[in-house]
Order: sequence, then structure tokens, then C-alpha cells
Amino acid sequence: MTDFKKIISHAKEYGFVFPSSEIYDGLSAVYDYAQNGVALKKNIRDYWWKSMVQLHSNIVGIDAAIFMHPTTWKASGHVDAFNDPLIDNKDSKKRYRADVLVEDYCAKIETKIEKEVNKAAKRFGESFDKTQFLATNPRVVGYQEKIDSILKRLGQSLEKEDLADVKNLIEELDIACPESGSRNWTDVKQFNLMFGTKLGASADSAMDLYLRPETAQGIFVNFLNVQKTGRMKIPFGIAQTGKAFRNEIVARQFIFRMREFEQMEMQFFIPPGTQKEWYEQWKQTRLNWHLSLGMGEENYRFHDHEKLAHYADAAADIEFKFPFGFKELEGIHSRTDFDLSSHEEFSGKKLQYFDPERNENYVPYVVETSVGLDRMFLAVFSWALREETLEDGSSRTLLKLPSVLAPTKVAVLPLVKKDGLPELANEIVDSLKWEHATAYDEKDAVGRRYRRQDALGTPFCITVDHQSLEDKTVTLRDRDSMQQERVAIADLPSRLDEQLNIKHWLQKI
Ligand code: ATP
Repeated sequence: MTDFKKIISHAKEYGFVFPSSEIYDGLSAVYDYAQNGVALKKNIRDYWWKSMVQLHSNIVGIDAAIFMHPTTWKASGHVDAFNDPLIDNKDSKKRYRADVLVEDYCAKIETKIEKEVNKAAKRFGESFDKTQFLATNPRVVGYQEKIDSILKRLGQSLEKEDLADVKNLIEELDIACPESGSRNWTDVKQFNLMFGTKLGASADSAMDLYLRPETAQGIFVNFLNVQKTGRMKIPFGIAQTGKAFRNEIVARQFIFRMREFEQMEMQFFIPPGTQKEWYEQWKQTRLNWHLSLGMGEENYRFHDHEKLAHYADAAADIEFKFPFGFKELEGIHSRTDFDLSSHEEFSGKKLQYFDPERNENYVPYVVETSVGLDRMFLAVFSWALREETLEDGSSRTLLKLPSVLAPTKVAVLPLVKKDGLPELANEIVDSLKWEHATAYDEKDAVGRRYRRQDALGTPFCITVDHQSLEDKTVTLRDRDSMQQERVAIADLPSRLDEQLNIKHWLQKI
């Protein structure tokens, strides 16, 4: 996988992601999506939306406002419990999330395991059995036990709000500040992640508001409106994509952890008592969604939570192998009836459902799936970017995006800028653009134009040459194999459809 710095610079150089307000030196952990980034992001969002809303007759979408009545956040528990444990290093004055310091320590042990695995794989060659090696090699087993016991203790201390023990753990593990190298730590404190703002002009009558830290609450407060107006029957889901805001303490790692980001969430309302099966089912469905993009089964894993959020009775992350290791990409949470019951209590309005099959009223239980759109963007982008050495010894930069997500699907290139080739190329653009995002490029030698499209992730290039004028054929070049094939212009739509039609991708879920 490509070095992280290269990923960030490629994202900028090719118009995917820019630092926000860069002319003022940027704003920490805030980013702007550029001309190609916005298209990739939209394609990921559409891929999610289609799989959730269009393909499930019992899931509908909404788009709730970012501002919500402030009591929402009392009821949801965010005012009291949406905290991260922070710790300061007294020498560097840098602030860290205490849990992340411990997790990073464990990630280092994990790297040691990976090294052992690679060494053994080389030694044993063909006959190497990774699963058996992980289960039996004494050194690896020792490392794994160490990780497990550290994470268990961290989970338990956070659960009990025993922040003194979190600090003890950091001291016992001898964790040093990455900046100053010192172990001179403050106590661990809780820090609320919500951004506050005010609604209204005059100081006395202004109302304190929060920017929403998750989109989910917009769904909960609309539960009954949607259920009634959509005549929805349980089980049913409400999906939403939109911005969320968190005043993250450790905001590094590019778009992995941002202060303003976008979530794609779905709340699935179910009868009480059925949460276990639905939780398992959604875990699998969501993993299948990720796998359908073809980025390698080995790059995903589940991580079941030790420490449960205040609203959950079970929770798991789908982790992805980012350039800096396996990290959370999506969360699947069994949220019980916590949110709806709490909104009932705080609003004084009933949020119940009459179940004709059970012949009773109840507050539904909820299973949530929540994936960060920007994090998904980073997963796709970092997986896709690679440097390839070609047969002739030269190299190329390839952005091997799943073609259904690529910002531009087809680039049409006239071999030369004369003899009627640009005109024919433009005719082809005009015929394809109704179905696919199509680009036209006539600048530079055709080889350089291919390289540029490879680096942008464009799955197909169509080259128009003099023969095209005579027999109405063009060359169709495949981004990944670089193979070129002579194809009749009339056959282009069906050839492109084979790979680009979203249906073929979604059917794999
Ligand atoms: P983390 O442990 O990484 O802080 P979280 O457990 O707080 O994440 P959730 O509240 O479950 O995250 O949010 C659901 C999803 O939203 C996450 O899986 C992630 O993809 C995304 N997400 C959360 N916080 C951020 C952020 N600061 N920047 C980008 N994406 C985020």
C-alpha cells in the first residue's frame, strides 16, 4: 500500500481533496473536496443510498436539518456523555486521546506480529498455514495475549469512568509522548466533543444550540412522522446522509478524523427481543456491501466492542486496513429502545408503534449502521493508489478505483488535434455522456494522456484515430490491464455497460 504522504499529495495534485481555506494556511482537520473528489464522494454516497433505500422496499430516506432543538442532545445523552478522555503532555503541551495512545501502543505490538508472520511465510513457503501459525507460535500468542489484556483493561476502565486507571495504564506501559519523548503526563480528563453555537440575534434571547455530532438523532425525532406518513410497518428503516461535527482532540490522519464530516446512517426499527438476529444480519449485509467493491476480503475485519456506548447493548466495527493499520470504517450498533424512550421522556410525546401482529403498543428497538463517507473515501482512495512497474521497466501511477465509483468513467482522446478526429471524438462524448461521466482530452501525446487518466482512476480510454474515420471503430483501453482492443463505435454502450452499470455491482451484495 502506498505511503500515506503520497496519498495526501496525490489527492491534492489530481483535484480530489484540498486543505480547507488553504490560502490562509488551512484549518486543522477540515478539508474541501475538489472537482474529482466531489464526484468520487457522490458516487460512494449513491452506491450506499441505492443499496439501502432503492433496493429495500422497507427502507426510506430523509434529510433532517443540522440544527436541532437543544433538548435533543440532552435526551440522546450527548450533553452528558459524548466525551473523549484526553491527556496532555506537560513538556510538548500536546493533547492526546488517552484511549488512542493505548491503542497506538497495541498497534505497534500488532506490527510485530505481522513481522513474525511475514518471516515465517518466507521460511515455510507454500506450506505456510497462517491461521495455525497465529494460534500456535509462542511469541505471536504472547503478543496477542498482551494486546487483548491491555484493551480489556482499557475498555473496563473507560466503562467504569475510572480515568485514574487509564492514566496508570499509560504509565505502566511506559508510553511516551510521540512529540517530546517524555512521560510527563497530566491526569486524564473528559472533554465534550460537541460544537456549540447560538440561534437568534440578541444576547438575552439567544438559544444555545449544538451542531449535530451524528445524523442519527434527526431520524429518531422523525420516527413517528415517517412511520405514519409512509404507512411503514415494522421492521422498517430510515436512512440519511449528511454532515456531522465533532471537536476532535486528535485531528490528524487527513480525512480519517475530521472536525466536519459526513455520515451515512440507517436506523432499523424492530420489535423488542429481535435485536440479536437483526444485529447479526446487518453486520453481514454491511460487510457484503463493502466486499462488493472488490477491495479484498483480507482488508476487512470485525471488531466487537468491549466498551459499549451509553445507548448500546451490542456494537461492532467493520475495520479496514488503512495505510496506518486496521481502523474503524463503519459501526453497527444495537441501540435498544434507548433513543426513542429517552425522546419520549424529554418531549412528553409518545413515540410508539402499534404492532398489529403482536396486538400491542411498544417503543421499537433499533439496529443502526453508520459509516463515515469521508472515511470510506479514504479507504477506497488509499487502497486504489499504487505505483506499478511495467514490463519495459518504466513505472506508472495507477488509481485502481472500483470502476463504479470512478469520478470519470470514460475519457475520449483524439490521436491528433486535426483531420476531423476531434469532431468524431466529441460526437462520441455526446453519445456516451447521457449514461456515463465522460471526459474529452486532446492535450499532449496520447501516452501521457493515458497516464493522466490512470492517475485519475478513469477505467476506460477511447482513442479515435484515422482508421476510426474510415471504419467507425476506436480503440478501447482498459485502465488496469492496459490492453487495447478495436471496438465498433456502435458497440461501445454495451461494452461499457458490462463494467460500469451499478446493477452488476450491487447484485454482488
Ligand atoms: P472513532 O472511534 O474513530 O472516533 P466513533 O466510534 O466515534 O469513531 P461513530 O460515532 O460510531 O464513530 O460514527 C460512525 C462513523 O462515522 C465511524 O465509523 C466513522 O466512519 C465516521 N466518523 C466518526 N467520527 C469521524 C470523524 N471525526 N471524521 C470522519 N469520520 C468520522
